[in-house]
Amino acid sequence: MARRVRPAIEVRQVRNGRGLVSTRRFLPGDAVCTFRGALVHASRLWSWWERDARRAANCIRFDADRYLDPGEGLGAFANHSCRPNAMLVVRRASLQVRAIRVIRPGDEVTHDYSTFLGADDCWSMRCNCGERACRGTVRRFDRLPGALLRTYVGLGAIPAGVLETAVEHDQ
Ligand SMILES: [Zn+2]
Repeated sequence: MARRVRPAIEVRQVRNGRGLVSTRRFLPGDAVCTFRGALVHASRLWSWWERDARRAANCIRFDADRYLDPGEGLGAFANHSCRPNAMLVVRRASLQVRAIRVIRPGDEVTHDYSTFLGADDCWSMRCNCGERACRGTVRRFDRLPGALLRTYVGLGAIPAGVLETAVEHDQ
């Protein structure tokens, strides 16, 4: 008899539509799950905004030129929080979700979208995360409050490909 193993992450109804809910306990630093998908060039993504805005909005910055299109995979249901319990780490062709706080069974797993919005990304979003420290609007990473930005950089939560987009703005 095969024993079915319950996945660590399930897609469920959450505060803002569907989201990723943990069925297990994770400690800071633990790998929670992986977002897989197709890597698409920024120029191709641009044309999607008119045809399929939802799909385009679900794409996650991957490096200077590419985005990860999660399709209908887990990454499509990853919600933002201004006080996230996870961060994304760029792997060879995927994004690893890693806990930055204790995650308990039943908790929604969130990351801060701003950590993956480059200085050249023009996308922003009104936030409804409900945290006391909610920033109200999610914007590109270089608009984060200084202390939070330093915390994220210290954690390695902002990938090199995103940090590089601000180089021109610093000069
Ligand atoms: Zn918020």
